[in-house]
Amino acid sequence: MPAATNVTPESPSRTPASASLFDRARLVTPGGVNSPVRAFRAVGGTPRFVTKAYGPYLVDADGTEYVDLIGSWGPAILGHAHPEVIAAVTQAVANGTSYGTPTVPEVELAEEIVARTPIDQVRFVSSGTEATMSAIRLARGVTGRGKVVKFAGCYHGHVDALLAQAGSGVATFGLPDSPGVTGAQAQDTIVVPYNDRAAVTAAFEQYGAEIACLITEAAPGNMGAVPPEAGFNAFLRDTCHAAGALFVSDEVMTGFRVSRRGWYGIDGVEADLFTYGKVMGGGFPAAAFGGKAEYMAQLAPAGPVYQAGTLSGNPIATTAGLTTLRLATEDVYPVLDQTAHEVARIVGEALTKEGVPHLAQFAGNLFSVFFVDPTVVPVVRNFEDARSQELHRFKAFFHAMLDGGVHLPPSAYEAWFVSTAHDDAALERIAAAVPDAARAAAAAQPEATS
Ligand SMILES: *Cc1c(COP(=O)(O)O)cnc(C)c1O
Repeated sequence: MPAATNVTPESPSRTPASASLFDRARLVTPGGVNSPVRAFRAVGGTPRFVTKAYGPYLVDADGTEYVDLIGSWGPAILGHAHPEVIAAVTQAVANGTSYGTPTVPEVELAEEIVARTPIDQVRFVSSGTEATMSAIRLARGVTGRGKVVKFAGCYHGHVDALLAQAGSGVATFGLPDSPGVTGAQAQDTIVVPYNDRAAVTAAFEQYGAEIACLITEAAPGNMGAVPPEAGFNAFLRDTCHAAGALFVSDEVMTGFRVSRRGWYGIDGVEADLFTYGKVMGGGFPAAAFGGKAEYMAQLAPAGPVYQAGTLSGNPIATTAGLTTLRLATEDVYPVLDQTAHEVARIVGEALTKEGVPHLAQFAGNLFSVFFVDPTVVPVVRNFEDARSQELHRFKAFFHAMLDGGVHLPPSAYEAWFVSTAHDDAALERIAAAVPDAARAAAAAQPEATS
């Protein structure tokens, strides 16, 4: 366990139930987790095994309560265990959990999503990974071309072709292109720096006629929050179209999270294909891809591009998603924006007081606090900027916040998430935890590399 030798800011005796669950989990599951970032390797220590969540709070196996700033990585937009979502799901479960036939809620959820977005048609899948994988297959099927352009630091799930220089867990662990991805798959992926028009233009000049699509996070949240510069998404769309390639906007994180219509509701740039996930599943495994009717008509059974799923459009997941979206009305988003800014203000003031260099950035209500020196990096524009962070300060800050009862994402390369349930009481708990955390960040020393 090399990570544990680097930082062990806590003793397992403080979290005996989580520590013993983690020991058990590591015997039967690689690294003890089912998605890498949960293992705390980037910050050290014991991941908390959560047994229950409500409103803005998580409760772990030791009975400790935390203000949650992960929000299940987005879906918990209304807070955890929202009574109306729980009621709808409970009722749906009583009617059986899966039929393998068409159902009513999947039609209703599709209508809701089509009404909110510029897409004509949508196809449901079970994860964001499946959504981007299928969108790329469709783009390749439609264009008859093979290559895909993506940005360093953008994460689109663990699709073979999209793992190159990905964000999220791939960034957290500094993994190179993953073993198991074939050379042919890697060769079909062209990676360019984010917010860099010249690099995009150069890639299209070199490979234009071979490019099936460019995929981007509508506003990246997987290297921390790094919004597109003004006009960047429109430039990407125009560059794609000039080359006969499709423009794919990955809204798995931003969709229905940053506005009722996702990032599209903020910048209005219409992609050929959009991908969704996270919020639209209401905490269940549901995701989607959709777009213009002419492209979606290429999908089986309407067209020749094959795509399918046993649990796609599952009635429980689509009921949870539909109920969540219906509750995520226009008035929810200004509240989320305000709460996000308030949390960032509370954290920023404490860090400033202790002289800790930092920079808060927003992509709608997604935000992150980068431990960069703003006199050197005044704006985090891309992955390279994000990687200039002082990670030792984040680690110290993270653990002191956790000790103070606030659960941040356990990586410096993730956005922070608030919900409509983050009320004054939750903000007061954050404010109470943050002075010690800022002092810990100020005192933190870089580790000797091991
Ligand atoms: C989370 C995420 C994915 C992957 O979704 P999973 O459901 O984890 O497979 C894809 N794209 C973006 C932008 C994401 O944030």
